[in-house]
Amino acid sequence: MSGRVITGRTKVLAVLGNPIAHSLSPPMHNAWLAAAGIDATYVALPIEGDVFAALPSFGLYGANVTVPHKERAAAIATQRDEAVARLGAANVLRFGPNGVAAFNTDAPGFVASLDEAAPGWRDRVKTALVIGAGGAARAIAWGLAAAGVEKLLVSNRTEARALEVCAVCPRAAPWPWAYLGDAFAKADLIVNATSLGLAGGPSPDWPIEAAAPHALVVDAVYKPLETPLLAQARARGLATVDGLGMLIHQGALAFEIWFGVKPDTRAARGLLNELLARG
Ligand code: NAP
Repeated sequence: MSGRVITGRTKVLAVLGNPIAHSLSPPMHNAWLAAAGIDATYVALPIEGDVFAALPSFGLYGANVTVPHKERAAAIATQRDEAVARLGAANVLRFGPNGVAAFNTDAPGFVASLDEAAPGWRDRVKTALVIGAGGAARAIAWGLAAAGVEKLLVSNRTEARALEVCAVCPRAAPWPWAYLGDAFAKADLIVNATSLGLAGGPSPDWPIEAAAPHALVVDAVYKPLETPLLAQARARGLATVDGLGMLIHQGALAFEIWFGVKPDTRAARGLLNELLARG
């Protein structure tokens, strides 16, 4: 018999969301578990919101949490890191005898992906434009503020949600969706944190011609890896960063929280590139 043997002692971790079958987290974490020789397995569970409160009694060792459960995850926690306390949303849970600890690694994961793909960005970026106001945008805006970005512009189709992001993020101000081109012109860093550009979905003609020649353009969407926004930015000769780095680094930080081991993020990129290429 080859491969890992699952026994009664094997720790079980899961990504919780709905829908969740598309998630790349199981192959990424299972590869890291195998490389570290840890007796644990990681699965995807399409759970409903009404069972969430019972989660601490499921016997899970740890969990990632995604749409639509991040707020519920923050609510069941008995300990919260600073980002969870401010944003009211958690993407990592650790279960233990002392209760449920909640973390938000989306925010530092996004920043780590910039550190890796665009070294020196911290010195160059004074003003950042975050497009969107959902869970991803909120974490990205918080992460950028925590990293010391001086000014954050938050532009969202539904302005009331942009105001909510600005209420929890230091140095953030809302920007009208109708004047996105002016925000592109002001920004040293432009981040799409909406679902626009997702494979099979709509994507606008972004006002990329307004961006400064030094602007760094980032997309949180990673399916496809080259989104319409990144394709437009590359055609203009701008530097770009894709969304896979954020996914890998939020996962690596979660792995470290659970097991105290830094996993190999480069190996994960190779594996996930291969899986994305298969479709
Ligand atoms: P969400 O909470 O559902 O938010 C969706 C956002 O997209 C909202 O700001 C929404 O605006 C905007 N939007 C949707 N359709 C639009 C349209 N037709 N025109 C203008 N704006 C539109 O989702 P989320 O969790 O923030 O995720 C957003 C995207 O980020 C996802 O598609 C995912 O691919 C990506 N993501 C990536 C990572 C990563 O690790 N790389 C992590 C999380 C998410 P309204 O408020 O006006 O509806």
